[in-house]
Amino acid sequence: MTADFVPCTDADSEHFRTAIIATLGPASWEESQLERLIDAGATVFRLNFSHGDEASHARTLQRIRAVSKRLGVPIGVLGDLPGPKIRLTDVPQGGIELQTGGRVVFVRGLDRAEVGDDEIRLGCTIDNIVGDVQVGHRVLIDDGLVRLVARCLEGDRLVCEGEGPGRISSHKGVNLPDTDLDIEMPTDRDRRFASWAIEHGLDWVAMSFVRGADDVRSLDAHLRSCAGTEGRPIPIIAKMEVPQAIEQARLIVDEVDAVMVARGDLGVEMDLALVPSIQKHLLAVARDARIPCIVATQMLQSMVESPAPTRAEASDVANAIFDGADAVMLSGETAVGAWPVESVETMHRICRITESTMRSLSITTGGDLEAAASVDMGPLEALVDAAWTAALACDASCLVVPSRSGVHARHLSRNTFHLPVLSLADDARVVRRMLLLRGVTPVQVERMPDRASLVSVADGLVRQHGWAEDGETIVVVARDDEVDSGARIIVHRIGEGGF
Ligand code: PEP
Repeated sequence: MTADFVPCTDADSEHFRTAIIATLGPASWEESQLERLIDAGATVFRLNFSHGDEASHARTLQRIRAVSKRLGVPIGVLGDLPGPKIRLTDVPQGGIELQTGGRVVFVRGLDRAEVGDDEIRLGCTIDNIVGDVQVGHRVLIDDGLVRLVARCLEGDRLVCEGEGPGRISSHKGVNLPDTDLDIEMPTDRDRRFASWAIEHGLDWVAMSFVRGADDVRSLDAHLRSCAGTEGRPIPIIAKMEVPQAIEQARLIVDEVDAVMVARGDLGVEMDLALVPSIQKHLLAVARDARIPCIVATQMLQSMVESPAPTRAEASDVANAIFDGADAVMLSGETAVGAWPVESVETMHRICRITESTMRSLSITTGGDLEAAASVDMGPLEALVDAAWTAALACDASCLVVPSRSGVHARHLSRNTFHLPVLSLADDARVVRRMLLLRGVTPVQVERMPDRASLVSVADGLVRQHGWAEDGETIVVVARDDEVDSGARIIVHRIGEGGF
């Protein structure tokens, strides 16, 4: 029988688990606002390279670093590469009204739209549209508010017909859901910003409009050659927003460090009605691959203008968490909205209350150890499942994991049993990267504990954080550097020593 519902409050949630990513823009990039966003619960900031240049992003980054230092909290920074996002060039002030059946012509190299006697002429940031778009393909402007269909190609002109009325205005996005654009990925602009992200020590780069695993491999090669390293110098997040990516999801997750359900473009490129199902599917695929998943776009959209969200938006955020999202993202709400701080506060409250509810109703994500054990497991998965088994059996208060590269913490975070995981790293960048892991609280230590000091360091840290008291049990899981590729799970009673 279903248990009675007991309402939780955000005060019930001591350990905040879901990451909140706030996109920065004019509404939020000043220091005082950044500080308020962090106080409100933002853990990661997103620099959107679709707008602005390197100099403006460098100024924002400097402010983030200054605020993070002043507050003494790690803050992650994600650089979002624009990808082959197509935009209209200039359109006369006030826009152009399109009627159903109206003739719209895309012209190569046109800087400013023109209205002729019987046609509207438009230019685009990517000229491939004339050539790659085939007769019958859809051309969607402004998130699909203006819908065209290609009718014929006349030399350097692609002739389309309006499927309904609409207003066409400057720099609106153009989506081509039926067209395979012949564009090299990453684009030149992506390459430039990716090198910038490495030079400036960003914590992740997100790749827009990924079509398949090959696109990710090309970005990876570029990143390695920029950094001159054998390994990948910065983690890659694949933004899942086109049909090809959804088809290839299982291949893509093998190449990336995290995925983002980028519902904005996804809802234009594919039937809007499919977006919720795709979101659930991608969350499951990411969980199987043991990488984090971010749910993004329009989560609290009405808060761009209003101080309170709709009931549907509150449910959307909560359902993403129920389904196992590691992070939820705000875009326009914090970049250009009238209520950026209130948006983060609202999201934070929904996250905390949802997490408390999940705990009180024992709802876990990826938390079925028996099912986990029945799938193919490598040694690391086996170690992590054993650590969780020990923690649950011993009624532990928390788990502690020294995680030099963040990999052990990432694997532990895939099974969420409502016990907090404290992860230690001596590298500030690894600490920031672990901010994206659900249920993991990263802590920077000056030096990684050695074999002899591991338990006392863990003991001291959990006391310091108030996560366990004398007599309570914690589970420490650690790679054993003295035994090549070995590892240990230690069940420890605070203040007393091991069993
Ligand atoms: C999206 O499309 O949902 C998204 C996150 O990408 P962007 O904000 O760059 O459009």
